[in-house]
Amino acid sequence: MDFATATFKNFENIEGHDIYDRAEVFGDFLQYMKDNGHMNYRLQNFSGCGPEMHVKTSMHQDGYNYVSFVSNDYLGFTQHPKVKAAAMQGILEFGTGAGASPLIGGHFSYHEVLEEKIASFFRRSKDSSVIYTTGYTANSATLMSLLQKEDLAIIDMAVHTSVYEGCILTNTKTFLHNHVESLERILRDAKDKYRTKLVIVDGVYSQDGDLAPLKQIIELARHYGAYIMVDDAHGIGVLGATGRGALELTGLLHEVDLISGTFSKTFANIGGYVIANPKLINFLKFQSRQQIFSATSTPAAAGIIKAIELIDEEPQWQLKLWENINYFKNGLTAMGMDVGTTQSAIVPVKIGDAHKTGDAGKLLLKAGIYTNPILYPAVAKKDARIRMSLMATHTIEQLDKALNAFEYVNQKLDIVGQRV
Ligand code: PMP
Repeated sequence: MDFATATFKNFENIEGHDIYDRAEVFGDFLQYMKDNGHMNYRLQNFSGCGPEMHVKTSMHQDGYNYVSFVSNDYLGFTQHPKVKAAAMQGILEFGTGAGASPLIGGHFSYHEVLEEKIASFFRRSKDSSVIYTTGYTANSATLMSLLQKEDLAIIDMAVHTSVYEGCILTNTKTFLHNHVESLERILRDAKDKYRTKLVIVDGVYSQDGDLAPLKQIIELARHYGAYIMVDDAHGIGVLGATGRGALELTGLLHEVDLISGTFSKTFANIGGYVIANPKLINFLKFQSRQQIFSATSTPAAAGIIKAIELIDEEPQWQLKLWENINYFKNGLTAMGMDVGTTQSAIVPVKIGDAHKTGDAGKLLLKAGIYTNPILYPAVAKKDARIRMSLMATHTIEQLDKALNAFEYVNQKLDIVGQRV
């Protein structure tokens, strides 16, 4: 076995060692990645989110302007003058930090406005919302607060890691990704065995960009007396006639018990939210440990209020995003690339082999394209891919540059011919 293959194999089998051994195996892997120009991770960025990013890489120590596909700022709002102005106004009025957790002094007036705004965004007039400092904690804190050892969380195996983390204090069963029969088997089995059953799915899955079969999932959950929560972090601003996400697209906005999401993608900031019945939301506001012991978001979060408004005020961004998604996907599939079952702004180019995916990432960087090579454990071992996030602000020239780069990578690595 050559050194590269052995290094990757060690990395993939990293479980089971002592913490120092694991850190060392990981260190070897990282060094290999650096030495071979594969380090697309944790690159220093000098220009912020955007379709072009000034980034320091092993090839360009002083930084270089890459066409970037690594941001989930789908509508480009992190650079929108009105969003920036609102965030700056928040800082001018309130200072740079909230200074405390929401429960004990860190809940400012713009947080309250934001909670009202995001709840009404979903048009669920009887519901309210609570915001968290990240989307990650919105999921993990909510689930940890709601579910206990008498309860059961039933989750799609591809849900975001924050959902898994939120379920560590309760019973958890996973069903095969988007497999409704697998879900039904668990629900049937769980009948009368648990106090509360909660099915949790993503609206859009973050590695494949595919959608949950929400209608069937909701019907099954209802039939077997389970509640349902949908995390639509990647759907908002992208899907649905007015950007309300996967639930709007499927006409099911009012059919689920809890909706969670993030302010770090389309809403161009940081933070997370949960929308639900006011009784549940009040419970979370006062009982979630993260609401009590962790500081709330900074006054720059005032920018989120403007970003929410812009979804309705400037629908052209969502339309432009879809022009870009379709153009780019068509270009890749015309080349014979496998983009899986994506129906969102996340476009994976499936390669399979981890080592080859690393090589593809490196060649893309060489061609001026910054992407995310996604390897195990983020995806299954033989399912490595280059993940691309499309933005409304990508130009056709930038998309063409990326498509040309993929042609070049395919000539070098024969991705289409040798997929494993
Ligand atoms: N849910 C999903 C589906 C996500 O993809 C992410 C972020 N990658 C999160 C939640 C967490 O969001 P945040 O970045 O705000 O912590």
